[in-house]
Amino acid sequence: MTRSPAAAFQSDVGLEVHVQLKTASKIWCGCPNRYGSPANSDVCPVCLGYPGSLPVMNRHAVELTVKTGLMLGCEINRYSKWDRKNYFYPDMPKNYQISQYDLPLCIGGAVEIDIGGQRKRVGLTRIHLEEDVGKNTHYEGRSSVDFNRAGTPLMEIVTEPDMGSADEALAFLLALKEILAYGAVSDCNLEEGNLRCDVNCSVRPAGDTALGVKTEIKNMNTFKGVHRALDHELKRQIAERTQGGAIVQETRRWDDEMGVTSAMRTKEQAHDYRYFSEPDLLPVVLSKESIDEISSTLPELPKARRMRFEAEYGIPAYDAGVLVADRALADYYEAAAAASGNYKAVSNWVMGEMLRALAETGTEITGCRVEPEALAALVRLVDEKAINSTGAKEVFQEMFERGGEPQGIVEARGLAQVSDTGAIEALVEQAIGEHPDSAQDVRNGKEKALQHLMGQVMRLSRGKANPQLVLELLRERLSPGA
Ligand code: ZN
Ligand code: MN
Repeated sequence: MTRSPAAAFQSDVGLEVHVQLKTASKIWCGCPNRYGSPANSDVCPVCLGYPGSLPVMNRHAVELTVKTGLMLGCEINRYSKWDRKNYFYPDMPKNYQISQYDLPLCIGGAVEIDIGGQRKRVGLTRIHLEEDVGKNTHYEGRSSVDFNRAGTPLMEIVTEPDMGSADEALAFLLALKEILAYGAVSDCNLEEGNLRCDVNCSVRPAGDTALGVKTEIKNMNTFKGVHRALDHELKRQIAERTQGGAIVQETRRWDDEMGVTSAMRTKEQAHDYRYFSEPDLLPVVLSKESIDEISSTLPELPKARRMRFEAEYGIPAYDAGVLVADRALADYYEAAAAASGNYKAVSNWVMGEMLRALAETGTEITGCRVEPEALAALVRLVDEKAINSTGAKEVFQEMFERGGEPQGIVEARGLAQVSDTGAIEALVEQAIGEHPDSAQDVRNGKEKALQHLMGQVMRLSRGKANPQLVLELLRERLSPGA
């Protein structure tokens, strides 16, 4: 049997994820940390890198980084410091970026991913804090730079080369984003560039222990892009090696339109940056008490919450996964479930009608007009057979559009299910009278004819008859002995 070239190679992928932190102000100055202001309006001498201006550390940025480290199981360095990473580029007027080199805030840690039903641990090397740089835009014949982004607190999460494929890298990014969103450390808005990543990858003959020569694809800002770029780059490396070629350590550019990577520049080494300690900032010293205090603010993480949902509410793993993926949606579910008691029914409503209506209208669950208590009341009406499922969907839609209580809507719209035996008996008689052949068929034991008659009664009731009662009455009326 011949093996495919891909099977003869093992891929190793590592990521450096840059995360913009959700602070009120920038990391070294009081300028607002926000997106969408007119170009170069949220700036000052510090974030413009004017000579003589001095940085003052934003403590909240450090706290959010420590919080992230604690959520990801990192060891927190009680003593860390700032370093200058020197390079020239128009988006960085100081000609150096203040970052952390040898003493980052967090060391180690991991993110667990689920790959084909199997749990896999992706180890983290470190998390450090640095400043974001300005944003260059290139037009035909000219380029511009906007410094609003310069000085945004940027957390860099560096992984071990533990991912074996583009799929695993994508699963990692999704799991990481979920945790960051749960911790509210970042808005995690990809369109606004809150999460950007550099992708490192290499291939080696299956069974080899030493990693192959790696290439790096910089500044990817969509998860889909990361997946496509990796898929392409790993295949390119395998093809190159299969043909006896060598991989060059270099930075490559991803062309999203063409779907290819191309060489950009040979990879710089750490010593090219001439890192040295930042003389204008004091080292960061964290007391045990301050770390404990941050520890006490940690939210329940998605994985733990999924497990609790399954155990506490007895809902399937699939439901728990859908509900927990969004912290606000999970909060909504818990409020409605507590008010209702029928946990599975509430889950069905949230995953079904609610997610459909939110998607159709582009609404967030936090802005939804259906109060959790109102959804619980709707579930109760269905459970008590006061309305049937068609009516319930109509009530839900009305509540989604205009708010309100289900009972009032049921009354206003005349949706109450008819469970009055006398009223239904009359309709049963009418249906039998109009369809004597079907009635005879039922007497002769034909189940199909019973379904037909039942449909007729439901139609006569305009959908409001209690279907179970209709079936009982029809069976009673047409039993062979009757
Ligand atoms: Zn500033
Ligand atoms: Mn960086």
